[in-house]
Amino acid sequence: MTKTVKKKSLLYRSKVEYANFCINHVLGCAHGCRYPCYAMLMAKRFGRIKDYNDWLEPKLVSNAIEILDQEIPKYRNQIDFVHLCFTTDPFMYCHPEVEDLTLRIIKKLNDNAIKTTVLTKGIYPKVLAETKEYGNQNTYGITLVSLSEDFKQRFECFSAPLKERIASLKYLHDAGLKTWASIEPYPPPNLVKQDVSEILDALSFVDRIIFGKMNYNFKVNSFAGIANFYEDCANTVIDFCRKKKIEPHIKKGTRIENKTTNNVSTPDSRFPLPSY
Ligand code: SF4
Repeated sequence: MTKTVKKKSLLYRSKVEYANFCINHVLGCAHGCRYPCYAMLMAKRFGRIKDYNDWLEPKLVSNAIEILDQEIPKYRNQIDFVHLCFTTDPFMYCHPEVEDLTLRIIKKLNDNAIKTTVLTKGIYPKVLAETKEYGNQNTYGITLVSLSEDFKQRFECFSAPLKERIASLKYLHDAGLKTWASIEPYPPPNLVKQDVSEILDALSFVDRIIFGKMNYNFKVNSFAGIANFYEDCANTVIDFCRKKKIEPHIKKGTRIENKTTNNVSTPDSRFPLPSY
């Protein structure tokens, strides 16, 4: 039986670089990432969950649609787009009840001429492309920080298999929808040895790529030369994106900060995320 919680508000302003409003309609996340997950750390710190096992049990916001009915008229003119989600996963793998609520929220927003950007480590349902229920102005993304299933098993324990995750995004792209990818938190070589170019190749069809370093893991700073490592990766991402006409965005704090290495983001009207 699905557990639920009630909330007083749902639409809130975000200070995160690529979203001005956000919705988190689930407490907890069955993917159980062990980078660690910042959202889980915060939920634990503020007493919203007891422990990791509690986090793994998603609790739906049972009054999500009712809150949206009240909040959409209030915020509609201030919203560029709504991001789903920062503190949970909207298409949690093997959780159809989460998928159902997410689809209802996307439809509700689109019916009110509000665009969404979505990010998941799950699988996108084909219905997003196959019916006219959902607007074609949404942008759908996946997180992909490694092509190693072994890494996935260790750090994104219960998320969707990588090949299926990529294939579901490609399906939406092939159907004409806008897509993006988040290569964040990108792990350092002492967590997994890999070539960022291979990940980029797997994502070469998307419209935008966001790249960012890993935080909150002690192994990051124990890797000698970590700053140069992320600088090299960021340059590889930017070069690749320029060649493929993909919009790159390097998250703040990932590159070595000096006058010649600003964060890069190329404005692109195809993509409804703000540029920085
Ligand atoms: S998918 Fe996102 S919200 Fe869920 S556990 Fe992983 S990092 Fe946290």
